[in-house]
Amino acid sequence: MGKIAIDKERCKGCQLCIVSCPKKSIRLSEEFNEKGYHFVIFQEGSECTACTFCGRVCPDMAIEVYK
Ligand code: SF4
Ligand code: SF4
Repeated sequence: MGKIAIDKERCKGCQLCIVSCPKKSIRLSEEFNEKGYHFVIFQEGSECTACTFCGRVCPDMAIEVYK
């Protein structure tokens, strides 16, 4: 099992990580960050395999993946 940490202030809400996650474990928050973007969150209770796809696809390096 893996785990991700999302830096919500770096996130622009482009949703590339959402599309890249094979477990569909990331979703857009209804809240805004300080720059006014919807940021993404890990859906509690979802699975993470630490595949690192989300972290690698993020253009803003907003996601760290842990094993
Ligand atoms: S590391 Fe893989 S499984 Fe885990 S949230 Fe990111 S894309 Fe999804
Ligand atoms: S890929 Fe990065 S910037 Fe885009 S929504 Fe995901 S965390 Fe935010």
